[in-house]
Amino acid sequence: MRYRSTRGGVEPVPFSRAILDGLAPDGGLYVPTSFPRCDPDRVAAAPSLASAAVEVLRPFLRDDVLEDEIEDICRSAFDFELPLVDLGNGTALLELFHGPTAAFKDFGARFLAACFERLLGRGFPGVPDSMLVLVATSGDTGAAVASAFHGRRGVEVAVLFPEGGVSPRQEHQLTCWDGNVRSFAVRGTFDDCQAMVKGAFDAPGLRRGRGLSSANSINVGRLLPQAMYYVWSSSVFRARHGAEPGFVVPSGNVGNSVGAFWARALGAPLDRILLATNENRVVPDWFATGDYRPRPSVRTLANAMDVGNPSNMERLFDLHEPAELRGISGAQAVDDETIRRVISEGPRRWGRVFCPHTATAMRVREGLGDGPWIVVATAHPAKFDEIVEPLVGHAVDVPPELARLLERPRRVSTIGPSVEELVSRLVSPE
Ligand SMILES: *Cc1c(COP(=O)(O)O)cnc(C)c1O
Repeated sequence: MRYRSTRGGVEPVPFSRAILDGLAPDGGLYVPTSFPRCDPDRVAAAPSLASAAVEVLRPFLRDDVLEDEIEDICRSAFDFELPLVDLGNGTALLELFHGPTAAFKDFGARFLAACFERLLGRGFPGVPDSMLVLVATSGDTGAAVASAFHGRRGVEVAVLFPEGGVSPRQEHQLTCWDGNVRSFAVRGTFDDCQAMVKGAFDAPGLRRGRGLSSANSINVGRLLPQAMYYVWSSSVFRARHGAEPGFVVPSGNVGNSVGAFWARALGAPLDRILLATNENRVVPDWFATGDYRPRPSVRTLANAMDVGNPSNMERLFDLHEPAELRGISGAQAVDDETIRRVISEGPRRWGRVFCPHTATAMRVREGLGDGPWIVVATAHPAKFDEIVEPLVGHAVDVPPELARLLERPRRVSTIGPSVEELVSRLVSPE
């Protein structure tokens, strides 16, 4: 299997090259050159998600130095629960939040980390011995990446987040690390953090023989595992109910949704794929008008979806013509007031407490007719206790994974919004 750039400016590369590069050298995004058909009946009958993943994802690592590691990688990445819960009324909930940081990004981050660990320091041509991973985060990405890489050989991680700009529990998850993971609270905004990561890539002295990566959500190594949970859940759903479900996906940078479209391309039994966004409505506006107009992001209750220029739309436009995309999918924006209402009605209407992101998808499902629909739950509500608890009127139980992290001591350095300060911290031992 080779991976080509959406912009067509580079020769297709094997899997390892694509994940080490992150972004293709021509500025495009890597996508697989083909989607080998999977067998949904075999997926549904597989003894575990990990063993189904080995079969479905094996072709994507073919002819790569990691080919023989696929089994190990899948078992190390897909090692937590993935419940598909029937809520009645033609609706099921796919809970993607049972990983170590209680959000769906654990799937992608753990798969990518498992790959890097097996790549670095093995003397493969063109592969560095060690790697520095820089992540600017406004919440969930940094925690998932920190957790996934913590304690892995050959990788150092630096997480940058805006001081005071994330929820208290998100901040704890970003700063409860030691060893190879360091956290920096930046006196500035998320945009400052991103600019610092960009600047650090060009800073002399930081590389010193090691690789530099940003492990951000455009990395193709994060999308393959995300395709897998759609392959699995749609196959299991059809085996249980004899029908092909549609999906409603809470969307920001559209990486999670691309997983669903790739699953469909692999032959998994997905019907329509609907994207739910918050008030950052570039994608719904494109569906409504045909005009694709990125704009600055606005802050909402569903903060992990505050994206004004969703990079992964480039992959969707690469996969489908606009008319085709309109035929099999759609998008709808949900404002903060509605998010609040859906959360407060959730326990009565669906027997569930939803996080603000999941609430956008639940709202879209509520406006549709008969199912079957699978609503994708992207984070555990306990991560957003300060929003959710006043709306439902009671405390939300903290899941054991999250509780474990919240018990760990915090360790964080506060720095100014300056590339020089970041680089000097990174090159000096602590
Ligand atoms: C990142 C995130 C999203 C958005 O996912 P994209 O792949 O960026 O569309 C939705 N919900 C939660 C909880 C997230 O952390």
